[in-house]
Amino acid sequence: MLDNLKILFHQGKQFIPDVTTVEVPGIFRGRPVISREPVNEDELAELCPTGAIGQSPVSIDLGRCTFCGECAQRFPEKIRFTKDYKLSTNVRDRLVIREGEDGPVEVDLRLVRPEIRRVLGDSLKLRQVSAAGDNSAEWELNAANNVQFDMSRFGIEFVASPRHADGVVITGPISENMAEPLQICWEAIPHPKIVVLAGTDAISGGIYEGSPALNREFLDRYTVDLYIAGNPPHPLTVINGLLELTRKI
Ligand code: SF4
Repeated sequence: MLDNLKILFHQGKQFIPDVTTVEVPGIFRGRPVISREPVNEDELAELCPTGAIGQSPVSIDLGRCTFCGECAQRFPEKIRFTKDYKLSTNVRDRLVIREGEDGPVEVDLRLVRPEIRRVLGDSLKLRQVSAAGDNSAEWELNAANNVQFDMSRFGIEFVASPRHADGVVITGPISENMAEPLQICWEAIPHPKIVVLAGTDAISGGIYEGSPALNREFLDRYTVDLYIAGNPPHPLTVINGLLELTRKI
């Protein structure tokens, strides 16, 4: 007992008490802010590897952005990345940040299906499908349940079988080879169920967008309930997005 108390005193609390307000230490690229400073927009748009930068007005589509930081390094007077990790929404267009905007990326509660909050509000089990992912987003999803972020304290966990799940979290750009396994997994999940896209690759295809090796028809057939931006998404982005979608925070 005394030894355990000594360890507790020595290590302190390992979990983050409030995952909705904690600040991320160190370097982190979260929600960008774009100033109204005039710049050469052609040059700015051209440097982006994924075509995430739009013009007139200048915008960044977080669903396509790889968060490489190149635009902010080359045009610091125009673009800066804040540490705001709340980058999840159920409205695809909300991931497009336009110049002069400095508002949060949020879930539009009016568009959340009532059964999601009614049935999945206290307990949410998810099946993760890596649809040609590179293991980065998968790694961060895993981290969301480690002792520090401790997502399971909210009743949100990943499960091994789709039959035990309430939804699917898709990572990766969805290759042709993964289209059918994803469909099989989805059909095995009982209703009501949700679709979550985690990371740039899942949301838009990322650097693979337009590749003939992809088959993203699944996304034409079903409504996406939550987009979690990031490349890969931070565990705090994942947790806050799922909490916003399923319960009142
Ligand atoms: S940080 Fe995003 S918007 Fe900027 S250059 Fe990289 S991919 Fe493009």
